[in-house]
Amino acid sequence: MGKKVVKFGGSSLADAAQFKKVGDIIRSDADRRYVVPSAPGKRSKDDTKVTDMLYACYATAVSGKDFSAQLTAIRERYEEIITGLALDISLAEEFVEIEKNFKAQAGSDYAASRGEYLNGKIMAAYLGYEFVDAATVIFFKEDGQFDAEKTDTVLSKKLEKIEKAVIPGFYGAYPNGAVHTFSRGGSDITGSIVARAVKAEIYENWTDVSGFMLVDPRIVKNPQVIDYITYKELRELAYMGASVLHEDAIFPVRQAGIPINIRNTNAPEEPGTMIVATTCRQSKYTITGIAGKKGFVAINIEKDMMNSEIGFGQKVLRAFADNGISFEHMPSGIDTMTVFVHQDEFEDKEQQVLSGIQALANPDHMEVETDLALIAVVGRGMKSTRGTAGRIFAALAHNHVNVRMIDQGSSELNIIIGVSNADFESAIRGIYDIFVTAQL
Ligand code: ASP
Repeated sequence: MGKKVVKFGGSSLADAAQFKKVGDIIRSDADRRYVVPSAPGKRSKDDTKVTDMLYACYATAVSGKDFSAQLTAIRERYEEIITGLALDISLAEEFVEIEKNFKAQAGSDYAASRGEYLNGKIMAAYLGYEFVDAATVIFFKEDGQFDAEKTDTVLSKKLEKIEKAVIPGFYGAYPNGAVHTFSRGGSDITGSIVARAVKAEIYENWTDVSGFMLVDPRIVKNPQVIDYITYKELRELAYMGASVLHEDAIFPVRQAGIPINIRNTNAPEEPGTMIVATTCRQSKYTITGIAGKKGFVAINIEKDMMNSEIGFGQKVLRAFADNGISFEHMPSGIDTMTVFVHQDEFEDKEQQVLSGIQALANPDHMEVETDLALIAVVGRGMKSTRGTAGRIFAALAHNHVNVRMIDQGSSELNIIIGVSNADFESAIRGIYDIFVTAQL
């Protein structure tokens, strides 16, 4: 029998109707044996996620005020699911325990983790799978770092003996047993960890979109879905702000060479996006995706004969490092170099950095340009395709966008373009149109 790990996000488990879709998906494939649920998410746009309700309820408990109404509202979210699924289970005991622990101030991580814990209990009862409390199999070190090795040893041993299990996402335990959570959206990481532990053939991550979009749908309406993307390409896009999966979810499966398949609970017939280590499949459109971020500053530095001065760049960068600022990109010319940094990090330290550069590198002239955006055009296919850069710049010129910086990563996996914040959206639309819309 094959082994698939399936993780379902909060919107896939927001109510009984969504649970039923999830049940159908799991039952339609006997290999879907290890299930990682999130806490119930929003049922509509203005709804509140159970995780957020738990944080708020716990804050009330800590402040010493009466939190019973808030806890009842949380309980009702679960009761609604249990009734809707006609399950014969009760969470009464669990809620007595939770109330007691809230009063004893068991911590906000413990509080938040109950969202997944309770949903896991319901899911296990609904599917007839065994429930495995994540606090007994997912471990953190004392400093809060995820303990990959201990987890993998314990978890793989545990699941070896269990044919079908539900392991709640998002949390684990410190060495002393106290509950600790990953950062928000961390159930994605749990799914990846479980996939590695059972040596799954695939990690299916079920959400409410039909995969990883080629571009942010807030900028381009109904963009195409990426069918295949490599881990490396995903890293580049995620770093530039594209999000569908928690960033840290890549590492456990990547190590084990397990592909991730992003799927849509509301459209299970669609193939979604495959995230793989490597592939011989070419991207349909030369580029795999576009992502970008606003809010950068460029510091332009000029000095005659800069090119022949040994260690000039190092001195400049030291001024940034001394002030705890990491740089993003550093394109250079013969007598000029430019350093791109995040505006919000730079603003407070601006004068210290500039005087540091002056003292260390003694340039002839410096200029600071603000309100810049960076756009990454990512694609494994760019390396072997002629004219990609040409097409990008033709598209930008056509959309009247002035290009302030160009940087082709040494991996030839991406081209980074700097434009002004005001041109950000039209630049992205222009690039999308020339590579995708024009090909449709
Ligand atoms: N429920 C948690 C959150 O809202 C974790 C998750 O859904 O992955 O962040």
